Amino acid sequence: MHMDIPLARAWIRTVAAAMEEHQEQLTQLDSAIGDADHGVNMHRGFSTVIAALDGLESTNVGDVLVKTGTILISSVGGASGPLYGTFFRAAGRQLTTPTTDAEHLLAALEAGLAGLQKLGGAVPGDKTMVDAIAPALAAFAAEVRTGGSVDLTAAAVEAAAAARRGMLATIPLQARKGRASYLGARSIGHQDPGATSAALVFQALADVLQA
Ligand code: ADP
Ligand code: MG
Ligand code: MG
Repeated sequence: MHMDIPLARAWIRTVAAAMEEHQEQLTQLDSAIGDADHGVNMHRGFSTVIAALDGLESTNVGDVLVKTGTILISSVGGASGPLYGTFFRAAGRQLTTPTTDAEHLLAALEAGLAGLQKLGGAVPGDKTMVDAIAPALAAFAAEVRTGGSVDLTAAAVEAAAAARRGMLATIPLQARKGRASYLGARSIGHQDPGATSAALVFQALADVLQA
């Protein structure tokens, strides 16, 4: 299984649907340790993205992801907009062909995470979206780099499960980045909103590959 342009579009559409479905949950999580706008931010951002994708003439997989990132940066007010925007833009810039295999997609997503971390300065354990994305990519890499025939779907399913575990593992952490860090120890005991939306991003990839 490879990722082509229709699949990349389906991934982003599925992310948008998931953000709509989970808008209330994301906002509730952000009301506990932030400013109660993460659901609105993600829903508005990805709705704007899918509206723009309809008119996009893409010649490679990266166009879809770069466009997604550009629109997230311009349409989301919160910290998550530039962070996700940078992730998708930096990943998309690596994907210059009409179709991509698992290894190439992994390298692109790793470039996306590097860009996000460079912008936000968060490392694993800081109780951010990085705590879902980093383990997701590690699990993806474990599937891809074991050698033998690489199954993109299997890698995405493993990545989604790891993202979810990373999301849940943010609960006992104290936030060291973003608004939640202002709460100090009072951020402990709450699931990070951005790690939760990041788990949705990886679940969406697994879903479209399994469909
Ligand atoms: P804001 O905090 O500006 O209202 P959102 O509520 O949309 O933005 O997003 C908050 C999420 O963004 C947090 O739950 C966290 O996962 C993520 N986040 C915040 N700051 C950083 C950072 N410096 N690096 C990585 N992720 C971050
Ligand atoms: Mg917020
Ligand atoms: Mg905000």
